[in-house]
Amino acid sequence: MDDCIFCKIVRGDIPCRKVYDDGELLAFHDIHPAAKVHFMLIPKTHMDSLLEAEDSHAPLLGRMLVLAPRLAREQGLNNGFRTVINTGKGGGQEVFHLHIHIIGDDVSPVVG
Ligand code: AMP
Ligand code: ZN
Repeated sequence: MDDCIFCKIVRGDIPCRKVYDDGELLAFHDIHPAAKVHFMLIPKTHMDSLLEAEDSHAPLLGRMLVLAPRLAREQGLNNGFRTVINTGKGGGQEVFHLHIHIIGDDVSPVVG
C-alpha cells in the first residue's frame, strides 16, 4: 500500500521509535502518546482493519495478542495495560492499517 503511513514505517520511509521488530510484526511508540507508555503493534503485511479478518489470519492475530503482554512488560507495564483496536470508521479508526494500541500509566520503576 503506497499511501499507507504504517506501511511507510514498515518500509523505513518514515521513521519510528521502534519497540519490537521481527519478520512478521513491528511495534513502535505512538507519535501522540495518550499515556506514559503508548505503542502500536502492527502486522508488517498491510490489512486495513479487523473487518478484513479471515480464518487464515488467526495465527497472525494470535501472535499479536501473545506478544502484547511481553512487550508491555518490557516497557515497564508489569501491573497491566489497556489494549485498543479501533476498527473501521464506526470504531473511530484513523489509520487504516490494522494496529493494536498498548497503553499504560502504571509503569514500574527501573531497578538498579
Ligand atoms: P487509530 O487509527 O484511531 O487507532 O489511531 C491511529 C494512531 O496512530 C493515533 O494514536 C496516532 O497518534 C498514531 N500515529 C499516526 N501517525 C503515526 C506515526 N507516524 N508514528 C506513530 N504513531 C502514529
Ligand atoms: Zn499499511
